[in-house]
Amino acid sequence: EEDLKFVGAADTDYAVVEERKVADEAFRSVRREFGKTYLPLINGEYVSTQESVDSVNPSNFSEVIGKVGLISVEQAQEAMQAAQAAFPGWRKTPAKQRAGVLRKAAELMEQRRAEFSAWIVLEVGKPVKEADAEVSEAIDFCRYYADEMERLDLGVIYDVAGETNRYIYQPRGIAVVISPWNFPLAIACGMTVAALVTGNCTLLKPAETSSVIAAKFTEVLVEAGIPKGVFQYVPGKGSQVGAYLVNHPDTHVIAFTGSQEVGCRIFAEAATLKPGQRHMKRVIAEMGGKNAIIIDESADLDQAVIGVVQSAFGYSGQKCSACSRAIVVEPIYDAFVRRLVEATKSLNIGEAELPSTQVGPVIDANARDRILEYIEKGKAEAQLALELPAPEQGYFIGPVIFSEVPPNGIIAQQEIFGPVLAVTKVKDFAEALAVANGTNYALTGGLYSRTPSHIQQAQEEFEVGNLYINRTITGAIVARQPFGGFKLSGVGSKAGGPDYLLQFLEPRTVTENI
Ligand code: NAP
Repeated sequence: EEDLKFVGAADTDYAVVEERKVADEAFRSVRREFGKTYLPLINGEYVSTQESVDSVNPSNFSEVIGKVGLISVEQAQEAMQAAQAAFPGWRKTPAKQRAGVLRKAAELMEQRRAEFSAWIVLEVGKPVKEADAEVSEAIDFCRYYADEMERLDLGVIYDVAGETNRYIYQPRGIAVVISPWNFPLAIACGMTVAALVTGNCTLLKPAETSSVIAAKFTEVLVEAGIPKGVFQYVPGKGSQVGAYLVNHPDTHVIAFTGSQEVGCRIFAEAATLKPGQRHMKRVIAEMGGKNAIIIDESADLDQAVIGVVQSAFGYSGQKCSACSRAIVVEPIYDAFVRRLVEATKSLNIGEAELPSTQVGPVIDANARDRILEYIEKGKAEAQLALELPAPEQGYFIGPVIFSEVPPNGIIAQQEIFGPVLAVTKVKDFAEALAVANGTNYALTGGLYSRTPSHIQQAQEEFEVGNLYINRTITGAIVARQPFGGFKLSGVGSKAGGPDYLLQFLEPRTVTENI
């Protein structure tokens, strides 16, 4: 069994001088490409559009990364027709060959790793090391889902005397992928290649603020040999083109990652039969979180402080897995808050591109304004323990910590998606668990403890899809920590895990009397 274990791509080692040179050169070459126009890919052709939008660098919004052509509803309709025309051929393409396209895409991204990291850093303001890890994740999704499809393609045989029974999987049809901006490569790639390798013709609608990276990923799939119409890149307005594709009677699967609000809406729309529709749509919706870390009196406080700081402020709190609540038992509460504030003060805030940066900007002006509003609400309902200043030329917000936050307060219940941490005091571990579970979400959670009974109880009762004990709660790795939540965080789908591809497939049983 050992040799079947999945081995992920290695991240870049920036301690190596050569690697740093490669990274610097990648930033220079990406900057030379700034301002180019990226067009949608429909039926194998890059097509021009009426509308376009500028994608800017959140660290310095005077820099236009690229211009992205936005498709119209008519073009979305053409893309849908092209997908339908390509489906009979793609569904008959052997699984091994489809997996081959993914492996080739992985290889191409590995070759262009430094360039892809640079695009992520510059388009969505993610610090360099985290952007590099995201490229690894995208590569891993390709290789892992390729392996997984080959495994599933074997099917199951249940033969008895006089009768053969074959349990096999077939693709569902047309898949619409709607991705968020915060993992602009890994999540868009993961959902897309899962849909493709299982034999579905796939349309990718990326988030508006991360459409250039999605265009770069499109280049990779084309170079890897994806046939025309099988994969199409359809940037457009979510509320218009996204909604059109969700509601289309010929859509079979919708793979969505994003906010709870949009996810719930898609779920409802997909449930309504449209004229001419002869199937039920499958919706994979991975949504937000209000993730908590519990720190009990037996915790190693040094470890807990570092873990909370990294989980809360990494990528400025804009990971769905980020820690936005720390729940601390009374005996160690004061010491923990004091040390947490000290540790957070030492974070470097600045442009995502600088190697020293630990906290970069937030994604755009809307996000900045929304987060600032939450900070005002926090000031009205809790104690402000820390508010760090931030640079002004980009969409920066310095990390903010609130203490004495009531468990039902706004900043303890709503997903802020920024560098804002709510710390709540509880009397004991039982109350900590009750407070941790007291939200609509169930995505990630953490516990710092050296008490075996608490660890055991958290495993059984902490309502989260991914529970981390005595470590950070972000940075899930493909085929090691399959990722996803339940309750209002999602439908229980686990990206990078053994059940993921099944959602894109229709199982069938064929029995023959012999
Ligand atoms: P978002 O606002 O929900 O947008 C996600 C995608 O949905 C975008 O491509 C958006 O397009 C599109 N969209 C918007 N309205 C639509 C509609 N009516 N019909 C169809 N599509 C529509 O989320 P986001 O701001 O990009 O991402 C942040 C959220 O994602 C957070 O809540 C975070 O927790 C969550 N997230 C969850 C996971 C997970 O694995 N559970 C992972 C990452 C992120 P436009 O950009 O054009 O509006």
